[in-house]
Amino acid sequence: MKQFACGDVVPSCGRTFTAPTDDEILAAVAGHARDDHGLTDIPSSLVDQVRAAIRTA
Ligand SMILES: [Zn+2]
Repeated sequence: MKQFACGDVVPSCGRTFTAPTDDEILAAVAGHARDDHGLTDIPSSLVDQVRAAIRTA
């Protein structure tokens, strides 16, 4: 499984994600970023940060 802690990118956020693949993590993070962080467009630089912070559990 893959894990991502939003706090690795947004220090004030305690949300974590677990999914079988990076792409599923990214899809879940995109929804969370939109709903909870007000980011309707995720910049590619942020996608890169998220990818870099995804860990294999
Ligand atoms: Zn967050």
